Amino acid sequence: MNLIPLPAFQDNYLWLLQDGQRALVVDPGEAEPVFAGLRRTGARLETILVTHHHADHTGGVAQLREATGARVFGPAAETIPEPATHLVQGDTVSVLGLTFQVIEVPGHTAGHIAYYCPDVGGLPLLFCGDTLFSGGCGRLFEGTPAQMLASLDALAALPGDTRVCCAHEYTLSNLRFAKAVEPANAQLAAYTVACEQRRAQNQPTLPSTIGQERLINPFLRSREPAVIRAAQAFNGADPSDEAAVFAAIRQWKNEFR
Ligand code: ZN
Ligand code: FE
Repeated sequence: MNLIPLPAFQDNYLWLLQDGQRALVVDPGEAEPVFAGLRRTGARLETILVTHHHADHTGGVAQLREATGARVFGPAAETIPEPATHLVQGDTVSVLGLTFQVIEVPGHTAGHIAYYCPDVGGLPLLFCGDTLFSGGCGRLFEGTPAQMLASLDALAALPGDTRVCCAHEYTLSNLRFAKAVEPANAQLAAYTVACEQRRAQNQPTLPSTIGQERLINPFLRSREPAVIRAAQAFNGADPSDEAAVFAAIRQWKNEFR
């Protein structure tokens, strides 16, 4: 099984998983990079998985379906290109001989879902759309801080070796912010060097892993004393209010340059 991040637009990745014969793609915001990926690998597109309704995740769905006959899956609570099978928490999708579990992760959008498979070539795999980024998380367009915190808690509870396939290459700018929150985090400094090297060679920083993100991502670390102190310093957030601390970090990131 081969996992390929197809670059699209400025900084999106359309994740292609293929075994040489069959393929699935996640969040095809445009069709052309997917057609090119399919030509390169010789695989036939069987399934399209959609995490949320934003155009940079759905813009290529109709064209890909027309050309390939691929089945489309997406969140129950959102409007996506039809016909599609609409999924809720606990549903499963069988594709390429794998079974993906649906995890509802509201926050970036109200109905956002993630797809988790415990065993792809021996390792767990997560497609998390715009919920979790390496070193960051999605903006709260439709959800509350408490919702996003609960969604990220659910993802953080997955096995540490879970490969995390995020939909954007935001890592370096996220890590600049993470350093402002936790300047003394040595793992964050080491990870930043590794990611800078990858970007300097024009390589993706992704997939990350859940274990790595737990060590360096301020949005998975909002109960760490250092992160709580930083949130307090930013806007006086009540250190005993988990959602308020998380909201402060998210607000700070929105304003960070
Ligand atoms: Zn989005
Ligand atoms: Fe996006």
